[in-house]
This record gives sequence, structure tokens and C-alpha cells, in this order.
Amino acid sequence: MSLVPCRACEYQVDTSALACPKCGATDPGRKISRQHRQVISFTVQFLIGVTLLFLGGRYVWLEFAPTIKAAIVKQNQG
Ligand SMILES: [Zn+2]
Repeated sequence: MSLVPCRACEYQVDTSALACPKCGATDPGRKISRQHRQVISFTVQFLIGVTLLFLGGRYVWLEFAPTIKAAIVKQNQG
């Protein structure tokens, strides 16, 4: 049993406390809260999604760019 300052209000709370008795913040003894962890995992998933979209878009672009460019050149000439 040890006391740590609440991450929200700095009130001394037990590390095993589920909520801060002063401000009601959840998991006051933990540096990273559950909500924070959810935000981090969401951000990581978002970044992975953006990266996949970017790589996929780049692949499609590299695959079809010559065709599109040829079509544009043809249009400009004709
Ligand atoms: Zn607190």
C-alpha cells in the first residue's frame, strides 16, 4: 500500500484506488488511464489505417498513373 499523487488533482491516493476520493478521477494512481490508453490505441489504429490508405493509394496511383497520363496527353493532342 503506497500513496501517489492523483494524476488529475495531485491529492494523495492509494495506488490501488479505483477512483480519486477528492476529484473522482478513475485510476488515480496510474500514470496512463484507461481512457488515455484507448486514445493511444485509437491513434495507433488511425495511423496504421492512414498508412495503409496512403500505401494503397500510392500503389493504385503508380499502377494507373501511366494510363491516366497517356489519356490526358491524348486528350490534349486530340
Ligand atoms: Zn484527484
